[in-house]
Amino acid sequence: MPFNEVRKDYLLDRWVVIAKERSRRPTDFAKPERKKAKAAVCPLCPDNEYMTPPAILVYLKQGERVIKDSDRDGFRHKNWLIRCVSNLYPAFTPPEGKIRLDRIMQSSNLSLAVGHHEVLVESPVHDMHPADMEIPQLLHVVNAYVDRLRELSARPYVKYVSIFRNHGLEAGASLSHAHSQLVATPFIPTTVNDELKASRKFWNRKQRCVFCEIMEKELKGPRLILENMRFAAFAPYASVNPMEFWIFPKKHEATPLNLSEREKEDFAETLKKCLKGLKQLVNDPPYNYGFHMAIGKGANQCYHWHLEVYPKLAIWAGFEKSTGMYINAVTPETAAEGMRRAIST
Ligand SMILES: [Zn+2]
Ligand SMILES: [Zn+2]
Ligand SMILES: [Zn+2]
Repeated sequence: MPFNEVRKDYLLDRWVVIAKERSRRPTDFAKPERKKAKAAVCPLCPDNEYMTPPAILVYLKQGERVIKDSDRDGFRHKNWLIRCVSNLYPAFTPPEGKIRLDRIMQSSNLSLAVGHHEVLVESPVHDMHPADMEIPQLLHVVNAYVDRLRELSARPYVKYVSIFRNHGLEAGASLSHAHSQLVATPFIPTTVNDELKASRKFWNRKQRCVFCEIMEKELKGPRLILENMRFAAFAPYASVNPMEFWIFPKKHEATPLNLSEREKEDFAETLKKCLKGLKQLVNDPPYNYGFHMAIGKGANQCYHWHLEVYPKLAIWAGFEKSTGMYINAVTPETAAEGMRRAIST
């Protein structure tokens, strides 16, 4: 009997059994109905602004222009396009006043959870998720990501800013209102740090960005999902999740901080197309996505920001949890083919 393949991630020491035999089709995962979080009153909907902390950032429409402001002194802006607030149950919290950096990491196995945890409301419309959003609104979301990233990454105690989105109850979205989150941490989380270390090693050996090289190869291969002037989306070689895909900017940058308006618009369009394709192909599956970037100095040459999208279609059980090795029942090549078809229809 022919064997399955065990594939290693491009950079991480992470192995995935790609079940080529008895491989499943993307549509096998389509469920007739998905569970949604239900709340009697949605705290993120317009008119419920007082149910959340004051907004750190709001986008407001003023004639043809969009202006940016924040809530102050018990006052809450109405009629916003985008609204960013502190998480009511933050995992990381800001210091009161100045904090000595050597106080944060208390010992080799204890750090204080100093940082920020924010909720970014992506639309005033409760169910308006990125797969269905108009591009101008999705562009506001991307702009707000960059605005918050710029502010948070400038704080001396912030070493990483994780920007992510949970979609659907099974993917951890306890509120069904369209929103993303930002978590600023006082150290670089392991997965990103491992990517960073591997890319630095590659740079030292070849004076090339490993991500640029990965993208060049994937652009010519069977895992490509879509390509336009400025971005490429593909299913990674050792996809951990069925239907997983990554979006790479063609321009080499370590963070999305310097994106031009045009680039942001292209990114919004690429993201929307991919998420819409996924939604059609697997009937609005739960998913998580997260940006990977390097905000610290000294990583500009070797690191290349990207977005990783993880549909939640498999249940990780004893084998995955006890070994850190995964089994993926959809080959990334099949996933990419399905996505290409869904996007083109
Ligand atoms: Zn809502
Ligand atoms: Zn690069
Ligand atoms: Zn990554």
